[in-house]
Amino acid sequence: MSELAAMPSDFTRALAVVAHPDDMEYGAAGAVARWTAEGKKIAYLLLTRGEAGIDTMEPAEAARVREREQRESAAIVGVTDVEFLDYPDGVLEPSLALRRDIAAAIRRYRPELVITNNFRETWPGGALNMADHRVAGQATLDAVRDAANRWVFRELLEDGLEKWDGVRWVALPGSPHPTHAVDITGSFEASVASLRAHAAYLAALEGELADPEPFLRDMAEQAGAQFGCPLACSFELLTM
Ligand SMILES: [Zn+2]
Repeated sequence: MSELAAMPSDFTRALAVVAHPDDMEYGAAGAVARWTAEGKKIAYLLLTRGEAGIDTMEPAEAARVREREQRESAAIVGVTDVEFLDYPDGVLEPSLALRRDIAAAIRRYRPELVITNNFRETWPGGALNMADHRVAGQATLDAVRDAANRWVFRELLEDGLEKWDGVRWVALPGSPHPTHAVDITGSFEASVASLRAHAAYLAALEGELADPEPFLRDMAEQAGAQFGCPLACSFELLTM
């Protein structure tokens, strides 16, 4: 019997809210590629431009390069709505301003599914997670509630953003406690190409993260073994 349940497929719009360029590509791009091929509309909201992510490149240049790479990467999996907020990479704070900006995006896109960073302390296998991911994931979960309450962040109403209480699930790729999965056997190659689009970022990396194919394949095979298919993408699914 499968250890993971099937991800819901009865949705038409999803919004991914993550801290950095490459966060979707290291976790959920295979699922996104499958969903967009099925006609679902998916948008990405990046909280930072990942400008502190390349040790050998000045942040101002890294911000430009990484924004461009993220747009190319998203297009490969069928995502053309890519927005960037200008929060600082590496020092993302759990602020009300951050929640308000995410809530505003949720009200604009009106998604049924929100995908965000794993905000647990660790990754599967026990490696420690980082602060930006914990902050982004938690703020996004809170912003889903904020988006649904007309009396929270009332200035959004003045901007014409009516409440949106249609988010049914929040999904965390890369969670150490996965509950659901999607078969990505048919979209795995697109997910690899999507990560490879982060060329400048990958060129500056060393170790297992620098080569997208084996890293993503290993992750997808492990999820596939738990789900009962060759390659899968797993999520911790929170029902709202
Ligand atoms: Zn990240």
